Amino acid sequence: MSQKKILLLPGDGIGHEISKEVEKLIEWFNINHSLNFEINKASIGGESIDKYDEPLTDKVLSEAFDSDAILLGAVGGPKWEGLPFEQRPERGLLKIRKELDLFANFRPAIVFDSLKGSSSLKEEIINGLDIMIIRELTSGIYFGEPRGIESISDKVKKGYNTLVYTSDQIERIAKVGFETSMKRSKKLCSVDKANVLESTELWREVVVETSKSFPEVELSHMYVDNASMQLVRDPKQFDVIVTTNMFGDILSDCASMLTGSLGMLPSASLGKFDKKINNRRAMYEPVHGSAPDIAGKNIANPLAMIQSLGMMLEYSFNETNLCVTLKKAISNILNQGYRTKDIATDKCKRILSTSDMGDAIINELGKLK
Ligand code: NAD
Repeated sequence: MSQKKILLLPGDGIGHEISKEVEKLIEWFNINHSLNFEINKASIGGESIDKYDEPLTDKVLSEAFDSDAILLGAVGGPKWEGLPFEQRPERGLLKIRKELDLFANFRPAIVFDSLKGSSSLKEEIINGLDIMIIRELTSGIYFGEPRGIESISDKVKKGYNTLVYTSDQIERIAKVGFETSMKRSKKLCSVDKANVLESTELWREVVVETSKSFPEVELSHMYVDNASMQLVRDPKQFDVIVTTNMFGDILSDCASMLTGSLGMLPSASLGKFDKKINNRRAMYEPVHGSAPDIAGKNIANPLAMIQSLGMMLEYSFNETNLCVTLKKAISNILNQGYRTKDIATDKCKRILSTSDMGDAIINELGKLK
């Protein structure tokens, strides 16, 4: 492999602890599988506010454009919660997604066999669950204008946001949905609220139009309220779901809890193909936040971050076999009864720290080599 530049943005809270484990793994892959990753570390979120007075500097943004892929820990924490909205750590995250135009967010919800007891749902409902939620990430109500809070009289204020989608924004995310379905079970469910929102009436129209280029894919449509209910009632009816920014935000968090722990869920955000890196722009990050309540204690679960590395190996660098091996190593360690505190049960063999879990995965990878 020619040299590939990885920008590592640990962020805040447990972001640093879990990023350390991923650094160890990248070094291990470089040595043991002749990969050639160069890691460049930089600040984002609260850490960047403390150092440079802004959540994402132009320098880091330009480093992001110079990188083949980005790995991000998590941003935010109580220290910065009092800041005006525009200056908060989360704005750094929204800015990097928007600037790199990372419009397709992949959030897999997979239940590891040994963790099926951790879900709040009955085992038979989630046994073998493996679904992919694709959320549109750079448009919709989180970005639509006008937005704001204003006074409309002495006593009454108005808060408003705009849900807007253009047909080209819908078409490109729909295509990603169909292409992903083609690699899986060829079943795609598009989630909207076309009965009451014109923007998603257009969504449905464009998805149907796009489906004509993918005749092998069985397309269905579902209103978001029904989809949230069906995800809990019978999640295995889904394979790939494609939906808007806000609906995807909510549904993917709901799906995440089907798996039992937030600490287990990776994500990938992909943009357009860029000639400069001869690849799609991409950022990989765990679904969870910076977990300030446990930061600095070496007890966070690093497996969401480690699986985000797995998604990077597969999606950005075509190292699908290594991604599969990494998943196998994680599965073996869990099957042997090792857990971090968040996924521990009475029956587990040993509770591992963040760094011990990273070491255990590396040790297992060595056995699988
Ligand atoms: P959170 O995901 O940080 O934590 C929720 C709960 O899950 C906490 O009890 C936490 O200890 C636990 N948890 C999360 N990840 C874990 C892990 N890897 N291992 C073990 N336990 C884990 O959500 P929150 O508490 O609502 O938010 C905390 C901060 O994170 C806020 O500032 C929020 O804005 C930010 N946040 C950032 C992102 C992101 O960077 N992508 C996402 C969500 C929240």
